[in-house]
Amino acid sequence: MKSVQTVLGPVPASELGLVLPHEHIIVDTYDVRRNSDGVLLDHQMAIDEVELFRAAGGDTMVEQTIYGLHPDPIGLKDISEKTGVHIVAGTGFYWEMYYPSWLAQMSTSDITKRFVEHITVGFPGTEIKAGFMGELGTSHRGITETETKVLQAAAKAQIETGIPIGTHALFTEIGLDQLNVLEEAGADLEITVIGHCDTNRDVNYSRKLLKRGVWIAYDAVGQFDKQTDERRAESITTLVREGYADKILISTDIAGRSRMVAHGGKGYGYLITHFLPMLRDAGLTENEITNLTRTNPQRFLAGK
Ligand SMILES: [Zn+2]
Repeated sequence: MKSVQTVLGPVPASELGLVLPHEHIIVDTYDVRRNSDGVLLDHQMAIDEVELFRAAGGDTMVEQTIYGLHPDPIGLKDISEKTGVHIVAGTGFYWEMYYPSWLAQMSTSDITKRFVEHITVGFPGTEIKAGFMGELGTSHRGITETETKVLQAAAKAQIETGIPIGTHALFTEIGLDQLNVLEEAGADLEITVIGHCDTNRDVNYSRKLLKRGVWIAYDAVGQFDKQTDERRAESITTLVREGYADKILISTDIAGRSRMVAHGGKGYGYLITHFLPMLRDAGLTENEITNLTRTNPQRFLAGK
């Protein structure tokens, strides 16, 4: 298996262990949401919480705090050094509500150049490289012109770099539209994932995506405003039984204070401590769980 670019440099994909493929460690959504819950800027708390993830048996996190969410690659590097947890940093632009005003003026090829630079040279002013593009979002009701350009640019950057792409697609079947844009722009569906598929409770939506060869992420585990985790576990088991075991990623997309152990939440270890037992109850074998939590994300992150 190939190496994966972490904030501390390349790591063989097979050494990534148990992976949470969609999380946020440092994030600030106050600009848009006007709510303190989405402000995670306490560096020591971040270290403590990531250490708890390690203590629960976790090894790697893909950190998808990108432009619009206030990324901090230098902070992530320090957290990775102090905790021993591998962190893969994403690059990109979140979605229209979070875009800088100058993005609309940028051409698709300029956006592609920016992505490629973050992946091959490093984030501005650092030597820390992105190992992932995402979460690249759209509204849940449609894709704007600039969002389309960002998705197209990611596909072009993927052709150049072989780095995986992940999207942010909430509630509706908007992931199918995202897939259309990405596929038409040349994205490699073997290293592309449509995110937040479990924010739509209809398992048929997942099937529609899987039938086209793209990965899906059930990455809102622990978010009960979307659906219960018991139902998530049932849907995942159904899809595994239908032959889609090798195209599913699971994560908790934590981006709020209320989910931190320090604030009374269950933290980054929740998937291991609470959700894996639900998957077992739903009928998945240990091998199938290892596949979901280790083999799948390792293979996906290895890119091309
Ligand atoms: Zn996210």
